[in-house]
Amino acid sequence: MASTMLLKNGTVLLHDAQDQVTATKTDLLISNNIISRIGSNISNDDIEAGTEIMDCTDKLISPGFVDTHHHVWQSQLKGRHANQGLMQYMASGRLLSNVFDAEDVFWGQLAGCIEMIDGGTTTVVDYAHGCHGQESNEAAISATASSGLRSIYCYSPPLTVTSWDPFTLDQNSLTEDVFAILSSLAKASPFADGRVTIGFAFDAFHFLPKQYLDMLMSTLASIPLITLHYCYGPTGSFSIPQAIESKGYLDERFLIAHSTNMPREDVALYHKRGVHLSSTPSTEMQASMGGPVPCFNEKYEGQNVKELCSLGVDCHSNNSAYLPGEAKMALQSARGQRSQAFLDASKQTRSTGDYTVEEAFNQATIRGARAAKMGASIGSIAVGKRADLVIFDATSPAMICGAVKDPVAAVVLHSSPADIEMVIVDGIVRKRGGKLLSVGLDDNGKKTVKGRSQLAWSDVAKELLASQGKLEKKLEGIDFEKAEVGLMEAWHIDPATVVDSI
Ligand SMILES: [Zn+2]
Repeated sequence: MASTMLLKNGTVLLHDAQDQVTATKTDLLISNNIISRIGSNISNDDIEAGTEIMDCTDKLISPGFVDTHHHVWQSQLKGRHANQGLMQYMASGRLLSNVFDAEDVFWGQLAGCIEMIDGGTTTVVDYAHGCHGQESNEAAISATASSGLRSIYCYSPPLTVTSWDPFTLDQNSLTEDVFAILSSLAKASPFADGRVTIGFAFDAFHFLPKQYLDMLMSTLASIPLITLHYCYGPTGSFSIPQAIESKGYLDERFLIAHSTNMPREDVALYHKRGVHLSSTPSTEMQASMGGPVPCFNEKYEGQNVKELCSLGVDCHSNNSAYLPGEAKMALQSARGQRSQAFLDASKQTRSTGDYTVEEAFNQATIRGARAAKMGASIGSIAVGKRADLVIFDATSPAMICGAVKDPVAAVVLHSSPADIEMVIVDGIVRKRGGKLLSVGLDDNGKKTVKGRSQLAWSDVAKELLASQGKLEKKLEGIDFEKAEVGLMEAWHIDPATVVDSI
C-alpha cells in the first residue's frame, strides 16, 4: 500500500531546469504515490497521523532509474551468452522464446523485474519479444504488475520457429492473432493502478507493404510508445528511421534502441520528430554494434544529441541489470575511444572534455524519463512527480567520502545494488534495509503458488531454477549452429560479413 512517508535530512539529488544536478540537504514528503513537498525542516505538525518518518542522515536520495530498452523475460538465459556475438545470441537466446511456455515467461519476467528493483530501476521500457500468444503476454503483464515495477510493456509480434531441424522460421510475423492480442492488451491497459501500460515493439516497419503498414499504424493509434532496434552498418548501411519517415509515420511516440553510428541526418530527423534513442553499451560493445554511444560521440558535435539519448540494459541474460553500471560503461568506454585519437597524435588528454558523470547520470534518470515519454511525471525529484526513489547508504565502503565530495560520481562510478538501502516505486517501498520485500501476486487474488499469494525472493528463485531446468531439457538436441545459419538465410544476411577474423 502507498502511504505517507517523511524522509528527513537526506542528501537529495535535485535537477534544475537545465538538467544540472545539485545535492541538497533537505526533507522529502511523500503522500500516497506523489512527492508532495520538498524543504528543510518539515515538522511533525505538517504531516498527517500515521506518517512513517525515516531519518535519512547519511543517505543519498536519487530519482529512480529509467531503463529504456530491456528484454525482461530472459532471466533463465543468464550464463548462456558470455562469449557470444550477436548472431550466436540470436540463435541460442533470442529464439528461445519459442520454448518458453506461459509459466516460464511468468518466472523469467518476475525475476527480471525484481533484479531491476534491487538495483534501483523504477521504470522500464520492456521490449517484450519473449511471448507467443495471449496467455504468455498476460503472464508477463501479471508478473510485471506483481513485481511493483513501473513498466511500459511493449507488446511484440513473436518470431516463430516452425522447425528446428531443418531450421524454418515463419516469415509472416503480422498475423491476425497479433492484431487481436495487440487490440485486447491496448483495451485492457493500464494495469496495476496505471503503473503498467502498453506500448508496441517491432523491427520491420520498413519492410511492410503499404496496406499492412497502414493497417498496423491505425491499430497503434492509441499506443503512446513505439520502439524498435536499429544500428547503422556494418552489415547494411540503411537508415530505418528515414525509411519510416518517408512513409509518413515517424512521430514523437518512437523510441529507437541503439542508433549507433547513425548518420547526422538521422539526428536532425530525431529532433524534428521528437524521436528518442536508447543506448545499451554492454550489449552494443559485445554484439558488434559499434560505438561510442551517440550521447558521447564527437561525430554529432553541434547537434545537441544528448537531449535525445537514454540508457538501457537490453539483455540481463548477458549483463547486470544495474543501470548506473551501464552509465559508467557508456562514459568510460567513450572516454577510452576519445583518448585513442589523442594517443594516435602522440598526445594525451588533459581532461575528459564534456564527457561528465552528470550527463551519464542524466541518461539514467531524467533523459530516460523523456525517452519513455514520461518526462512530466518521473525521472527527477520534484513536487508533483511520482514517488519513484532510490536511497543509497552514503557511508557504505563503496560510497563513503565520494558521496560527500561528489554524490553524482558516487552513484555513477562507485555504487552497486549492495549500496541501495531502499527503493520506492509509486510511493510503495519495494526494498528496505537493503533487502527485497516480498511481492504480492497480481491476478485479482486468484493466482497463488503452492497456496501462497506473497512470495519472497527465495520462493521466486526456487521456481526460476525449476523453470531453467525444464527449459534445458527441452533444448537438448537442438543444433544452435544450424539455427544460426538458418537465421542468417531467413534474414538475408551474407555469411561472408559475419566472421571471426579479418
Ligand atoms: Zn534489444
